[in-house]
Amino acid sequence: MIIKLFPYPTLRQISTPVNFFMPPAGYNDWSQFEKDYIHLMIRGRGIGLAANQIGITQRFFSIGHESFDEFKKPAILYNAKVTKASDELEIDEEGCLSFPGVVYNVYRSKEVEVEWQNMKGDTLGAKLSGLEARCFQHELDHLNGITFDLKAEENNL
Ligand SMILES: [Zn+2]
Repeated sequence: MIIKLFPYPTLRQISTPVNFFMPPAGYNDWSQFEKDYIHLMIRGRGIGLAANQIGITQRFFSIGHESFDEFKKPAILYNAKVTKASDELEIDEEGCLSFPGVVYNVYRSKEVEVEWQNMKGDTLGAKLSGLEARCFQHELDHLNGITFDLKAEENNL
């Protein structure tokens, strides 16, 4: 498993819902895959990693950082979505593991209410704010083929 760099084709593809009955190639179950995947994100010093960044076009991503409220411990979120987004936006710098050394200023909703599934298929929810909300929105965009360069401030002016 390696992180694909832009312009790797899956980075601009729209991902499809996760099939829990079919673990990724080379794995018999999702739990070992989760360990390796989260390790890859941490080794890259990332706070999020979307499946299409490793070439898999299924709807999941990892998220986690010790400064976060909900995801202090990194987790993989399957079939995640935003159910409510604040009208209030916030601009801040973002990086991306598929764009080494590149930083863009991106507007994001300050707060988002979100839902996702864990690998058992249970539906969970949370309300996120600040960097954690930003990270969730960045990763969800990946699953829709939207990389952060497309949302950079200069493109919106
Ligand atoms: Zn990214």
